[in-house]
Amino acid sequence: MLENKDQSRTSLSELGEFQLIEHLTKSVKLHHKSTIKGVGDDCAVIENQNKQTLITTDLLVEGIHFDMSYMSLKHLGYKAVMVNLSDVYAMNAFAKQITVSIAVSNRFPLEALEELYAGIHLACKTYQIDLIGGDTTSSTKGLLISITAIGEADKKDVVYRNGAKANDLLVVSGDLGAAYLGLQVLEREKQVFQVNPGAEHELDNYTYLIERQLKPEARKDIVKLLQDLEVKPTSMIDISDGLSSEILHICKQSDVGCNLYEDKIPLDQQVISTCEEFNMDSTTVALSGGDDYELLFTISQEDFPKIKANPHLTVIGHITDKKEGCHLITRGHQKVEIIAQGWNAME
Ligand code: ADP
Ligand code: MG
Repeated sequence: MLENKDQSRTSLSELGEFQLIEHLTKSVKLHHKSTIKGVGDDCAVIENQNKQTLITTDLLVEGIHFDMSYMSLKHLGYKAVMVNLSDVYAMNAFAKQITVSIAVSNRFPLEALEELYAGIHLACKTYQIDLIGGDTTSSTKGLLISITAIGEADKKDVVYRNGAKANDLLVVSGDLGAAYLGLQVLEREKQVFQVNPGAEHELDNYTYLIERQLKPEARKDIVKLLQDLEVKPTSMIDISDGLSSEILHICKQSDVGCNLYEDKIPLDQQVISTCEEFNMDSTTVALSGGDDYELLFTISQEDFPKIKANPHLTVIGHITDKKEGCHLITRGHQKVEIIAQGWNAME
């Protein structure tokens, strides 16, 4: 295979659509009893018995949601699954199945789709997800991936965005801002590379940031943890667009206000040092940067003792009456209004 370069790139036109689907899905193993029928018929069949079924879908378009110049197809496949699973976990439910639909131009050889599916299969294996179907078509230009995730939960466990009450605590998992900075580092490298393709890449100081951008992990562990701690959040959302816009979603839908404390926002050491190097404000990065896939939720004060010692969870503020508005309390004890892109420093 290595002697002849052409032989290592199999044109998609050499396979029919059915052969391609068969090739990409033949290694699929089903994990769940609820998956009655997976790939191979007109429909997949799921039996969720007494549970509620949760469904979410995302469409990713090359050049808009991802850039293949620094993202491998394997990472892309993995991340595309994570983005969807994260939405299911944000409802306090467990994801069980996905469907994957792709539109692909003939610029991509079979080997590229194998890479993409290697990422998808790895995500499914790690998170115990059944790949149960999809659709395959051609595109004139580039790659589109649409993934639908299906989850289940007992009715009593499902958490919406609209349940936050005054005096609830505002809690976040993990740490924030790293994925956005990872993207900045990769963009910078791409520019250096375009000017000087032989340039050495010195990325040791940014490994955590890059990993958070290229290989995010959806927080299934947090849903499990909350279950084990017997804590049911009053509201929850995943942080895909930055902390400030997600907080505003919860406040708007719950008809409440909030106070968020700047000094409580969890930041990794690499975020702090890279913000210094790039001359960026780490709070702005945490509030406005995207792609963190952490969970933001509210809990009633009574539940505080159950979570307080946990290293994965940080209380960053509390919910107030709506009339008090949504504010960031800065390190200097100033109270500034939170706006979707960071905060309104004019107040
Ligand atoms: P239909 O003609 O009903 O749309 P297809 O030939 O597109 O059926 O698909 C055949 C089977 O393969 C179905 O079970 C479908 O869900 C599955 N499938 C098609 N494309 C993909 C894909 N890209 N990834 C995973 N499963 C797929
Ligand atoms: Mg089809």
